[in-house]
Amino acid sequence: MTSKENLEKLKYKTKNVYSNIPAEERREMLNLCDEYMTFLDNGKTERECVKEAIKMAEEHGFKKFSDTETLKAGDKVYFVNRKKNLMLAVLGNEDIEKGINIVGAHIDSPRLDLKQNPLYESNEQALLKTHYYGGIKKYQWTAIPLAIHGVCYTKDGEQVEICIGEAENDPVFCITDLLPHLAREQMSKKLSEAIEGESLNILVGGMGVSDCEIEQSVKMNVLNILNIAYGITEESFLSAELEIVPSFKAKNVGLDMSFVGSYGQDDRVCAYAALKSIFDIKNPQKTAVCLLVDKEEIGSEGNTGMMSKFFDMAVAELIEKLTGSCDMIKYNKVIRNSACMSSDVSAAFDPNYEGSFEKQNSAFAGKGIAIMKYTGAGGKSGSSDASSEFLHDILEIMNKNSVIWQSCELGKVDKGGGGTIAKYVANLNMNVIDCGVPVLSMHSPFEVTAKGDIYMAYKAYMAFYENI
Ligand code: MN
Ligand code: MN
Repeated sequence: MTSKENLEKLKYKTKNVYSNIPAEERREMLNLCDEYMTFLDNGKTERECVKEAIKMAEEHGFKKFSDTETLKAGDKVYFVNRKKNLMLAVLGNEDIEKGINIVGAHIDSPRLDLKQNPLYESNEQALLKTHYYGGIKKYQWTAIPLAIHGVCYTKDGEQVEICIGEAENDPVFCITDLLPHLAREQMSKKLSEAIEGESLNILVGGMGVSDCEIEQSVKMNVLNILNIAYGITEESFLSAELEIVPSFKAKNVGLDMSFVGSYGQDDRVCAYAALKSIFDIKNPQKTAVCLLVDKEEIGSEGNTGMMSKFFDMAVAELIEKLTGSCDMIKYNKVIRNSACMSSDVSAAFDPNYEGSFEKQNSAFAGKGIAIMKYTGAGGKSGSSDASSEFLHDILEIMNKNSVIWQSCELGKVDKGGGGTIAKYVANLNMNVIDCGVPVLSMHSPFEVTAKGDIYMAYKAYMAFYENI
């Protein structure tokens, strides 16, 4: 019979997380987000994230794969690749040839890298030259407090870790911007041209050496300070990896504290939810894998990105230790039967920029994990387009497990676009779906996510690991 009630049932409706979860789940959500904010503060670079993730994994009973003799169902192991890329696995009860379930996220974020020869003095100021990494809006990086994180080597060949600008009494750094009074010309430029890449120089000093006559005294004083603190010289910069990131910590946003505001949430929000879920699963049927990759923001290239053979090699080693051998045929079977949630953030609909979104196919902050059949730019270029069959299976699992989700694509057609690791995983020949937490101000120094969506990402990965 046609009634309003029956007709209403025909509609696809999205749900608001907060009005659809019970009080105890709301508490669980808030606790999870508190822990997530600590994770963000402890891991502002891919190296720091790997370190933090290993520490957490070991606390949850994971062992380094190379330290294990034999493997059996229920065992938890991890593989590290060059300190920037990590794979964790919980071995399932089922034969591994039936496939593995992978949640993959990236742990690199847009930032400013120091150039290899960065230090110079100009007009009594010492500055560091940078080369930006990933897609940034350059103007967002001026006039905010910045920190330096990374590694370099001393003259004696010892690696030192550098982290300046995070502790309460640490100095911070910044990129100065032109005062509005003199910025008439700058302000009339296109946003993309107003701040040039070559002018993203970090202010690190303004005081010369006190007791010695030397040219470029301010620069020499900076070198001297670094030498005393870390034993490094100017040549140490040449092989260093030093990353400039915002120095502020993750914060609650809003009077109701419903959002998390922080640097680096793309894609550490999905990385954290993925870690949390692999730590919480108990005796999965299929082997569960959490894959954290580097270099997504510059195209997944290189030996720590998704295009590296690391994942294939780790899976092959896992098969060998588990079953006694691994040939091409066996490996291919595992991969063909595997499934992956490519977990990366999506753009959240922004009321300040309505014109850039197509509302009917947008993700909204607070309406759950965003599921994207495809990403890409233009005519879906550079996208892995998930099959109807696989997407249907995934949505069934989400519905059965009370996961609040929403379907979306990244903004209006032809407004721009973006990619994820999905296509590189799909190229291996397995089913992949893009999904993740919607983000406001994505790629900015202060990205914003809704706590309800973070919690739903965790629930989605749990459901995926335990049910597919
Ligand atoms: Mn991302
Ligand atoms: Mn990104």
